[in-house]
Amino acid sequence: MDLGIKGKSAIVCAASKGLGKACATALAEAGANLTICARGEEDLKNTAQEIQNASGVEITHVACDITTEAGRQAILDACPRPDILVNNAGGPPPANFEDLSMDDWRKAVEANMITPLALIKATVEGMMERKFGRIVNITSAAVKAPMNLLDLSNGARAGLTGGVAILARRASAHNVTINGMLPGTFETDRLVQNFVKQAEAQSISVEQAKERRRASVPANRFGSPSEFGAICAFLCSAHTGYITGQNIVIDGGVFPGIV
Ligand code: NAP
Repeated sequence: MDLGIKGKSAIVCAASKGLGKACATALAEAGANLTICARGEEDLKNTAQEIQNASGVEITHVACDITTEAGRQAILDACPRPDILVNNAGGPPPANFEDLSMDDWRKAVEANMITPLALIKATVEGMMERKFGRIVNITSAAVKAPMNLLDLSNGARAGLTGGVAILARRASAHNVTINGMLPGTFETDRLVQNFVKQAEAQSISVEQAKERRRASVPANRFGSPSEFGAICAFLCSAHTGYITGQNIVIDGGVFPGIV
């Protein structure tokens, strides 16, 4: 299927690895020109080169911390009028509520709520004027079903989800959509860090923690980043102007609700 976004410009945040990289790769395969960021320059440069070699699209890479104002300005300077915005950043560290300081909460809210809101604020009006825009917020399945030890993620990402819900409806009149992608368990570096914490909390080995999690997934496996990327590219395509304000759980069937 032609996704109808050849030549569109896309910002993909936090994209040197994992889910962000997979989204960038799939958007490039569909012909979108990319501006990508991450903090570590070496990995980012290699990822940009790898995607460019495979797809032939234009890729600008900006080494920055997207959770800072300077980082957000740097990526917007590189791509001031994106047609597509994929919001992503590292997840907050896993911990129980009792072990969290208010400073931990401020950092999580800045990274996983304020940062995507600021990028949306800087770009959504231009998208509405140009009558095309696709905004995807990578959040977490924790938005629908809060998870143990992920209190910071549960809170900050739910805030973002509610914060854009009305805008998502209003913007759709201008062919601009805003949707959330809610990953369950995908095989990335982040997942490994979570297993280490879960193993400590349950006094089991990391391998046992991984196996317990896998066994709890109806699909009987973890997700692969490339399948996540393909869904992202479809949500950013020309065919999805009628999908907005949705929060799509991609978790191999873990979420037990029917809606
Ligand atoms: P990952 O494999 O660890 O990759 C994270 C990427 O983000 C890297 O490219 C990293 O590069 C970049 N990054 C991190 N912090 C950044 C910052 N402040 N500014 C710019 N770039 C930054 O993680 P992932 O699994 O893809 O997860 C992506 C997001 O989805 C996270 O928020 C995670 O919590 C959430 N999530 C993931 C899963 C899952 O199963 N994997 C499930 C639920 C939610 P640098 O370190 O070089 O900056």
